[in-house]
Amino acid sequence: MSDSEVVKCGAPRCGEEIDDNYANYSNILEVQICEGCYQSDTEHASAITKFSPDGSVERVILGDLVAIGEYGDPVDASSWKREWRASSAWRGHYDTTFVSGWTEVEEDLLLWGERTEGQDLGVKIQTACEEGTLPCEVSVIADPTSNLFAQGISFWVRDADAMTFAVWVKGDAAYAGATSR
Ligand SMILES: [Zn+2]
Repeated sequence: MSDSEVVKCGAPRCGEEIDDNYANYSNILEVQICEGCYQSDTEHASAITKFSPDGSVERVILGDLVAIGEYGDPVDASSWKREWRASSAWRGHYDTTFVSGWTEVEEDLLLWGERTEGQDLGVKIQTACEEGTLPCEVSVIADPTSNLFAQGISFWVRDADAMTFAVWVKGDAAYAGATSR
């Protein structure tokens, strides 16, 4: 006697048969998926980190199949759009954007062992968050690329905070940039 049933993994191009007691759930596709697909999806996922002025930090792991919080809890993925942009058969990068309400203020490519402007900005945001001096919420999206040693990174603020953030980063130069157009 067993109350388990065999289901097919619902991930694209898989279809492996799994015991439904051991199936994982894809909260993006709303189907049962196998352990292998779950592992692979979370390993190649994008990471979204939201820093708040009150010092709190929220993390979301966003894959093609699952969107989960820091403790594995399912998260509604409808705030973001995530696409693979291929530059050849084997190369490319993921590009994750907010669907609405947030503006991209900076982007960069992070390379292992190299110091970049994006890295400096990330440190500035993290430090200000810890110290409680961050002027507005900032979301940092890290997207994997086909290069194991490179990661795309983009910085986002709510639409209404774009100028506040620019002034915080660039000081009065932000105003000069805004009025010279
Ligand atoms: Zn599968």
